[in-house]
Amino acid sequence: MLASISRYLSTYGRNRFMTSSAGQPGPEKMSVMFAPLIILGSGPAGWTAAIYAARAGLTPILVQGIQPGGQLTITTDVENYPGFAEPVQGPWLMEQMRLQAERMGTRVANDHIIDVNLGGPPFTLIGDSGATYTGEALIVATGAQARWLHVPGEERLKGFGVSACATCDGFFFRGKQVAVVGGGNTAVEEALYLANLAAKVTVIHRRDSFRAERVLQERLFAHPRVDVVWNAAVAEIVGSDAPPSVAGLRLADIGTGQISEVPIDGVFVAIGHEPATELFRGKLDLSASGYIKVLPGTVTTSIPGVFAAGDVADDIYRQAVTAAGMGCMAALDAERFLMMKSPRKAVAEEAA
Ligand code: FAD
Ligand code: NAP
Repeated sequence: MLASISRYLSTYGRNRFMTSSAGQPGPEKMSVMFAPLIILGSGPAGWTAAIYAARAGLTPILVQGIQPGGQLTITTDVENYPGFAEPVQGPWLMEQMRLQAERMGTRVANDHIIDVNLGGPPFTLIGDSGATYTGEALIVATGAQARWLHVPGEERLKGFGVSACATCDGFFFRGKQVAVVGGGNTAVEEALYLANLAAKVTVIHRRDSFRAERVLQERLFAHPRVDVVWNAAVAEIVGSDAPPSVAGLRLADIGTGQISEVPIDGVFVAIGHEPATELFRGKLDLSASGYIKVLPGTVTTSIPGVFAAGDVADDIYRQAVTAAGMGCMAALDAERFLMMKSPRKAVAEEAA
């Protein structure tokens, strides 16, 4: 396998690669960069793909995007990423992943991709910096972002009682009072999950009926620790700054506008996620909710040589460890794809 990858690298010219050693220009300083594999995104999926691909000798270029380290950089304690007996800080964990990927030989571009041409391979990506990245295989790991309410108090108290992930943060609210905002499957599932931990869960929904599946609704209504406030919008998340913590919600009745206050210790916003797939609309098959479609149980997209890993292709689990797992799968599949492709390419060039 390594022999065939070496042949691949010599076919495309390893010398054109930039190194990531200190003091040398990063790949983003050049106008055209080539690598057998380009990885888009620096969350757990991207860095894991980079670690595997670099160890396989593919010298990948990873383009970090505008959120280096991805979603975990906006959280504090991470307790469910295996390998750490004690909680670790999200930004620290992502820094470790970056260092590990760089140590293996990943070249890191501090750039954000604004256009892609998937009419290959090779695939071409245009960065915000003006640089062009060309790769024979591509791993898309651009993640997803939770939708937020954009009300006063939300931004200030994110990570201090305001969360968009019950699986991640529910544990911190054992025996406490929490609210969940939303009326879809995610909100109801988050509320049911939290009901096993919290003393009381109040679901706040802007209409008088949920859009969640009936079976989930029935479970929710039957749960003794769950209440629902219908026809209400969150007007403000109230809390203190020293130490930062949530104390309650100010709710506006949708019909009358009347304001009421609900004391709570934490609020989980569950009003949907936005996968970062705008670049790929019309170029890759996407699901109705905008996620990249992959063959079930794989990271295979609708274009051979383009793989999708992590939250960008996963609207169910959305966890760091599942994203990392998919990153590993994508790197192994990309390596296999390149290996199958390169001997043919080398033979074709020799014959020419
Ligand atoms: P992301 O982490 O979303 O990273 C996406 C990357 O893509 C970013 O680096 C971004 O810059 C890049 N990108 C996007 N567009 C472009 C572009 N056009 N060009 C180049 N790059 C681009 N999970 C857990 O397992 N445990 C937890 O405790 C936990 N806590 C969380 C707390 C919070 C507040 C949040 C928001 C999430 C939490 N999660 C947790 C979920 C976890 O963070 C995600 O499941 C995980 O980060 C997904 O990884 P990813 O690699 O798919 O994408
Ligand atoms: P969703 O179905 O789009 O529901 C979002 C909910 O948030 C809706 O109830 C919506 O209210 C509400 N909302 C949106 N914007 C809001 C705002 N600004 N303020 C207050 N409320 C707001 O999103 P989702 O629940 O995350 O589900 C996304 C997709 O994943 C769906 O297709 C869902 O079926 C799927 N999913 C499936 C499962 C499962 O099968 N077990 C689990 C989770 C998710 P309105 O109802 O008034 O529009």
